[in-house]
Amino acid sequence: MLNSLVVKMLPLLPKSLVYAVAKRYIAGPRLEDAIRESKQQNSKGRQVTIDVLGEHIQDLTEADAAAEEYLRVLEAIQFEQLQGNVSVKPTQMGLGIDFQHAFHIYQKLLTSAREKNTFVRIDMEDSPYTDSTLELYRQLRASGFTNVGVVLQAYLRRTLNDIENLSSLMSHTLADAGKHIRLCKGIYVEPESIAYKGREEIRTNFKRCLDSLLDHDISVGIATHDEVLIRYSIQQIEKRSIPKEKYEFQMLLGVLPELGDRIVQQGHPLRMYVPFGEKWYAYSIRRLKENPAIAGYILRAMFGLR
Ligand SMILES: Cc1cc2nc3c(=O)[nH]c(=O)nc-3n(C[C@H](O)[C@H](O)[C@H](O)COP(=O)(O)OP(=O)(O)OC[C@H]3O[C@@H](n4cnc5c(N)ncnc54)[C@H](O)[C@@H]3O)c2cc1C
Repeated sequence: MLNSLVVKMLPLLPKSLVYAVAKRYIAGPRLEDAIRESKQQNSKGRQVTIDVLGEHIQDLTEADAAAEEYLRVLEAIQFEQLQGNVSVKPTQMGLGIDFQHAFHIYQKLLTSAREKNTFVRIDMEDSPYTDSTLELYRQLRASGFTNVGVVLQAYLRRTLNDIENLSSLMSHTLADAGKHIRLCKGIYVEPESIAYKGREEIRTNFKRCLDSLLDHDISVGIATHDEVLIRYSIQQIEKRSIPKEKYEFQMLLGVLPELGDRIVQQGHPLRMYVPFGEKWYAYSIRRLKENPAIAGYILRAMFGLR
């Protein structure tokens, strides 16, 4: 009860207090912060996905500025020899305003990424953008890019169908550097008519979607901190003798780091999502809402305790 009260209070809290608690989830405000964090993760045997925070831009010049920042990230990945790629939110590139504009930005980013032998993931946002995001992915693939991947959300009732429809686009001959589908539960609040709501039914659909991806021989990023799903995934990987090039686990910075250590110790590939940037607020609020210990963290920060 205290947790849900604190979640309701979050928008009322001063940003400085939210930052004090939320900074575990982000590398920091600047590119140098993301580079430092990525090097640290690489030194622990993990790959990274760097994310420039921001979403739902209001005009297209903001999209262009965010794209420039991503080009700097790609330069840094090459220059600093990071084991990493980037993840890009479509509404940050203007998808909600002008599809063609967003499409051209992704083309630019993919061209730069291809020159650097790396990969661009299209993040998946809330359901008004599911169709246009998948269309963006299809058109980028149709224009010849193989270093692009997309995300599917297991809480959506449509996802098994989407896997069927997308499967013809993917084949094991593609470069697997980024694992073509990232499968996650999904973070946005969606209506029951289109989304599973219960913890167990989301888990069940996650398992079905993973099975379907593996049946179709599609390389997959398994993005979850749910130990039940991680155990299930490992069972499937071992049962089907899936080689390491065809899968990886993915986790968010600051969430259950010991679980990540265990995944790596067991010999599985792990990629960490490393977000950075000035626009940390919306992302951090989502992460805080998911944190089962949020009330304790906020209360300790309010009283200046660590
Ligand atoms: C790499 C990566 C990329 C993602 N990309 C997208 C995307 O493009 N689109 C999208 O909709 N969603 C995305 N997500 C978010 C995802 O959909 C879930 O909302 C999020 O991962 C929590 O779900 P879970 O599978 O970890 O299961 P949960 O059941 O939510 O969490 C499992 C356990 O992890 C712990 N935990 C979870 N979150 C926190 C936290 N913030 N702090 C502390 N402990 C926590 C808890 O102990 C919890 O019991 C991504 C997730 C990851 C890991």
